[in-house]
Amino acid sequence: MKDFNFKVPQVIEFGLGSLKKLPAILDENKLDHVYLVSDRGLEAIGVVKKIQDIIEAGGIKCTTYLDVLPNPTVDIVNEAVAGYKASGASSIIAVGGGSPMDVAKAVSVLAQFGGTVHDYVGLGKVPVGTIPMIAIPTTAGTGSEVTASCVITDEEANYKMSIISYEILPKYAVLDPELIMTAPASIAAACGVDAFIHAMEAYVSTDATLFSDAMGEKAMELIGGNLRRFVANRKDEEAACAMMAGSTFAGIAFAWAKLGNIHGMSHPVSAYFHIAHGVANAILMPTVVEYNALADNGRYEKIYNYLSTDKEPVKDFKPSMLVDLVKELNAELGIPASLSAVGVTEDKFEEMATDAMKTVNVMVNPRQTGFKDVVNLYQKAF
Ligand SMILES: [Zn+2]
Repeated sequence: MKDFNFKVPQVIEFGLGSLKKLPAILDENKLDHVYLVSDRGLEAIGVVKKIQDIIEAGGIKCTTYLDVLPNPTVDIVNEAVAGYKASGASSIIAVGGGSPMDVAKAVSVLAQFGGTVHDYVGLGKVPVGTIPMIAIPTTAGTGSEVTASCVITDEEANYKMSIISYEILPKYAVLDPELIMTAPASIAAACGVDAFIHAMEAYVSTDATLFSDAMGEKAMELIGGNLRRFVANRKDEEAACAMMAGSTFAGIAFAWAKLGNIHGMSHPVSAYFHIAHGVANAILMPTVVEYNALADNGRYEKIYNYLSTDKEPVKDFKPSMLVDLVKELNAELGIPASLSAVGVTEDKFEEMATDAMKTVNVMVNPRQTGFKDVVNLYQKAF
């Protein structure tokens, strides 16, 4: 068995209506002015106002920055940092899917220590003492509320840069499943598959440990058993609660075990072609699951059972059955079947593979993967 250590240092508040605890959390931490980072989509459906009202009703000042866009860029981060500094706030609340969380994490570093995003890219480059941050996920999800990384796009280089430092872990995560119950079906599907992939990639990662396995298995049980039901009806409370908890457990699993080729390869797809993160991952999933089958040490059967709709565990399992099952899942959820279907073009495969090879995720993939393998996998998924 592999040696392991772990910590889950943030406070996680979970429950329907748990947003109401926000003023008490802020008060307890003597935070009297928050900078709320979110996007225009969440503003339009009233989520931002709902949270702002709860905060202000507690006598706490709230300044907002709502111009976060998907696959956020250095310019957006710089604008948000300037807004934070001008506001006089003493803490940050991130409301959203992955993009507002990524921007908020970057602001918690840059507004405190100065410099540019590029200065902190890589492992452990952030000093101690970032601005305290509370994460409120509105999708299930990125798991970003429990991870120590943030991804910002360098637009000139079409490259997604990762800051990976325990200093950027949010201090609190408030998980209120009510927030994901207004998501459109397409978002619920893409984010839900992505959350399952987080758990699955962490589970087969060469860095997996007993601890990440425990989180990953429970995540796959919760997500595998509720994803279809949740996409079908987001008002299904039980399914929403399972998805929200599952997504966070998956986040904890991959915060420790890292991910694999699906995520290593999906970041360049998003960076070059502006494809949503969850959609890019879901499209790549069958190809990578098939490639990794050669390395399977019995875990594919467990993953299959978590994801299958059959009541009984599978008999006479073959790894190819998991490949078929994930293809079937994508089709059921309305995810496009190929990279070509979402506008990716073949001429960028070599550049994308070069970028994919720079990520830690390809290094922990269960089947060793070289540059040529990545190009072939892109071709296959095309
Ligand atoms: Zn992901």
